Amino acid sequence: MKQRLLWLIIFTTQVLAEKPSVIIVGAGVSGISAAVKLFENGIANLKIFEAEDRIGGRIHTVKFGDNFIDLGAQYCHGENVVYDTVKDLDLLEHAQLFSTPKMYYSNGSHLDNQLTQDLQKVVSSYDHDITRSKELSLGDAFLKKYNSTILEKYKNDPENFKLASDGLTFAHSTILMHEGAFHWSRPASGRHYKAVKGDQMMVWKQRGYDMILDVLLKRYPDPSLKIPIEEKLFLNKRVTKITWTGDKASVKLSDGTSHEADHVIFTPSVGVLTHDDLFEPVVPPRKQQAIKSMGFDGIIKLILYFPEKWWHDSDSTFFFLWDRKDLEGITKEFNEGPSKDGISWVSNLVALVKVPSNPHVLIGWVSGGLIPEMEKMSLDVVKKGSMFVIRKFLGRDYNVTEPGEVLWSDWHNNPNFRGTYSYEKNGYFEEEVHYQDHLAEPLTQGTTPVVLFAGEATHPTHYSTVHGAIESGRREADRIIALYP
Ligand SMILES: Cc1cc2nc3c(=O)[nH]c(=O)nc-3n(C[C@H](O)[C@H](O)[C@H](O)COP(=O)(O)OP(=O)(O)OC[C@H]3O[C@@H](n4cnc5c(N)ncnc54)[C@H](O)[C@@H]3O)c2cc1C
Repeated sequence: MKQRLLWLIIFTTQVLAEKPSVIIVGAGVSGISAAVKLFENGIANLKIFEAEDRIGGRIHTVKFGDNFIDLGAQYCHGENVVYDTVKDLDLLEHAQLFSTPKMYYSNGSHLDNQLTQDLQKVVSSYDHDITRSKELSLGDAFLKKYNSTILEKYKNDPENFKLASDGLTFAHSTILMHEGAFHWSRPASGRHYKAVKGDQMMVWKQRGYDMILDVLLKRYPDPSLKIPIEEKLFLNKRVTKITWTGDKASVKLSDGTSHEADHVIFTPSVGVLTHDDLFEPVVPPRKQQAIKSMGFDGIIKLILYFPEKWWHDSDSTFFFLWDRKDLEGITKEFNEGPSKDGISWVSNLVALVKVPSNPHVLIGWVSGGLIPEMEKMSLDVVKKGSMFVIRKFLGRDYNVTEPGEVLWSDWHNNPNFRGTYSYEKNGYFEEEVHYQDHLAEPLTQGTTPVVLFAGEATHPTHYSTVHGAIESGRREADRIIALYP
């Protein structure tokens, strides 16, 4: 009751003070964060248009197995705004995952020697101590480092040198998984990303990453305080055109309706921005250049439920390292699904990771340039191919059982995302230029911002993350709030 009264006061204050109307395009975490901030500051004349049938965007937690799993964002990286928002609610814990990974070779042997430790170290810190320049891709810069460290160290040790050379394919796949790129020649060697201090691998104790949406919307821990966003939220509403020539912006939807507002906050991904012709007139050259400077490809998450668990409780992560010869002959053993240069898609399954809150589930991480084709495979082929790899690598040491339900994400082929997370493209990097800031610049009439831009890719240092997305949504809400003191 008290809460309803509060929202009534906000609403009345808004009418009296002639607060503006705002349309938010997209109900991902940046759009939700912007909406909450506007609402809490008395700007309640809001409409949020979301193309999907749910909120959350690239945060997508679904019921699976004995609990929940995340098809999108999963880890909280450091003591960032997500951490700050929930730190008193006991919702996050450290994921004991990568501290004791096991590396297996495609002949089925467990690799555990100085070389594999060196390899894992150099791969996990792949963007440290590399030469950064506009002309050098991340892949080229990493290769230089790999040659001068690992290959140099083992050059007089034929057996380990062979493994070290095979390690390059593993390094490539792992780096693509982190970057969300299709090839390591695509990201720049330089970057503006800054890690936030603290534990980089925290996971959610209850449910999954969508807990943050409940906390932001004040549905948790006390639902009676929830922000009444439902009345402002329109699901399955795809925006097809935003016209920004007049004092107000006009937003057209795929259902044929048009809606006007004083301000529009646009939050869809760089993939959507690159692919869709959404603005009338087109955005200025500076913003077009910013969009071009950002890469947005994708990774796939494979989710497997095993009714009968076959791994040990002490296991956390399995890494797969292919012998070059096995890789080249692989399509003779498994030939379903796409391949490139004779190498099957199955070689792109780089790691298998336990889910602390879901004990019968393993998540596979899949990267590489075949993703657009891989996403289209039937679940039957996905299951057969994944089990082929798992048995090939682990079948000697484990009695691998048959999985039940399987999930396979499809972020790249979904027109509302067209990929997973943004990266800075090779050929564009300059230390002093933050293209993310250029992307964030509003489209104005006179000095009034009419269309504003939020979303992870507009964050100058925390792009590609949930915390970057939240900060970007709040930043654009603040830009509007400042106009109506
Ligand atoms: C597989 C995967 C793993 C990830 N792992 C992590 C992780 O561990 N930690 C981390 O911090 N981050 C991770 N991320 C990144 C993180 O999820 C994103 O950075 C963040 O969620 C982006 O939020 P956003 O609001 O900027 O964009 P989005 O979530 O993309 O929100 C934009 C919304 O706009 C909607 N939309 C698009 N086009 C239209 C249109 N024309 N009309 C109306 N609506 C439209 C979309 O449906 C979407 O809901 C991961 C992402 C993926 C996909």
